[in-house]
Amino acid sequence: MNSRFLAGIALAVTLASPALAVEKAKNIIILIADGSGYNTLQATRLWTGAPLFTDSNGFQTTSMSTYPLRFANTPIPGAAGLAQDPNTVYSSASNWDTTPVAGTTGAYPRAFEGYDWNRTTYPDSANTIVSLVTGEKTYNNAVNVNGNGDPLLTLAEVMVQNGREAGVVSTVQFGDATPSVGGGAHNISRGNRQAIANEMFGSGVLSVIGGTGNPDYDDNGNLRAANYAWITPELWNDLKTGTNVSGFNGQGWTLVQNRADIQAIANASVSAPEKLAMIAKADNGLQAYRGGLTANNDDPFATAQLDTSPTYTEMLLAGLERLNDNGNGGLYLLGEQGEPDRAMHANNLGRTIESYIDFQLGVEAVVNWIDSPDSYADWSNTLLIVTADHDHLLFGPDGATDPFQDLLPDDGDVGTNPQHRWFFGSHSNQLVPLMVRGVGANGIIGLADDWDSYTDEQGRTFGRGWYTDQAEVGRYLLQAAVPEPATWGMMIAGFGLVGLVARRRRTVTITA
Ligand SMILES: [Zn+2]
Repeated sequence: MNSRFLAGIALAVTLASPALAVEKAKNIIILIADGSGYNTLQATRLWTGAPLFTDSNGFQTTSMSTYPLRFANTPIPGAAGLAQDPNTVYSSASNWDTTPVAGTTGAYPRAFEGYDWNRTTYPDSANTIVSLVTGEKTYNNAVNVNGNGDPLLTLAEVMVQNGREAGVVSTVQFGDATPSVGGGAHNISRGNRQAIANEMFGSGVLSVIGGTGNPDYDDNGNLRAANYAWITPELWNDLKTGTNVSGFNGQGWTLVQNRADIQAIANASVSAPEKLAMIAKADNGLQAYRGGLTANNDDPFATAQLDTSPTYTEMLLAGLERLNDNGNGGLYLLGEQGEPDRAMHANNLGRTIESYIDFQLGVEAVVNWIDSPDSYADWSNTLLIVTADHDHLLFGPDGATDPFQDLLPDDGDVGTNPQHRWFFGSHSNQLVPLMVRGVGANGIIGLADDWDSYTDEQGRTFGRGWYTDQAEVGRYLLQAAVPEPATWGMMIAGFGLVGLVARRRRTVTITA
């Protein structure tokens, strides 16, 4: 990308936004549990018999809409390409419509108008994160381009332009929608995987790239004939041999594949390389695709997990240890647990729950890392966002007749899958939970000024209460990422240490 072109985009974005009170965050960490809506969290609570880590521990919670600009998955030129399809916009009346609908769609009962609306308007994992890191709605499939297919300035680029170091890690392919969008790549289609990998490794934005998509390993961590679905043979060979044929290793990428080596970086027993590429020995996911399933409703952990794969926690901590090398310069990390979504596409609740447990362990590890005196991050300079990109369509066992029924415990037991029923094999357009902690958390909670509530003709009331939207959060993050003007810094420097302490706690109102 041409940096002057991007600066022009940034100016246009900031001039168009209203005045907004934004707390500046030196460090921004975004943890995404792909596809994990309210019922994913509830399924996990029912299985463990305990609250989630994010149910307390200083997190504030609200809800967030995730709808796309349009359902179609290609760019459209001109004004039509930028127009919001009103039918995809989240509304309580559309989502919670309990009007019965007869018949089936595929293997699923249609059941209610609200279910049908979700099955025909849902976003994907690319455009949802585009909203979160650019503040713009776009079409399904878009990687940091708008509805015309034109590139958007991203949070990763803004953070790096302002002195931070940036990274992305995932438990699924390093170049899939969430990490590629979070890492500031640009493409009209998430399917252009090799081009996206070339941009991630070549743009100079990222210092950490982590995930699966290893050409040489299968879903059980075994060697296989190479499959270059996610990276060109040339770039993969460069990474493995440390040569400079394609130019990307001229930026000094170091490939780490062994779990033990990732663990050593994560626990700081060895120093992280300058450019850390952690491509785990796995194809699609770290754990969710491993063999051994006897049925799609196997309980979580019924099959032993692969010890060749790092955990989400190990990937996160290795990334944070590398980015911590930037000292007081600050960091940006987007860490995705992508496997709940993959398991839900397969209607596999057991692996959904086990990967969501893995996600919550990662959140806890990041909180402990921020609390640690060894990290430059603390809660006065760090914004931690924990959320999902979108939901699926998972309800209780009688959800075909009892609309939006909650999941139920399995005969009151913990440790076995809750009673449930799937109503789709893909995403939904429902609100998702948004948990925030640290500097700027109050501001993000304050964005939630829409109210979700719907009472049907039978007098049944549904709703999540206050909610914001991914694009609103994205616009907030872009402003939180830009340091205060130099004049402020100069004035504060004159105030000495007291001024610096005060600066950390001040809420700054900027017209941007
Ligand atoms: Zn998905």
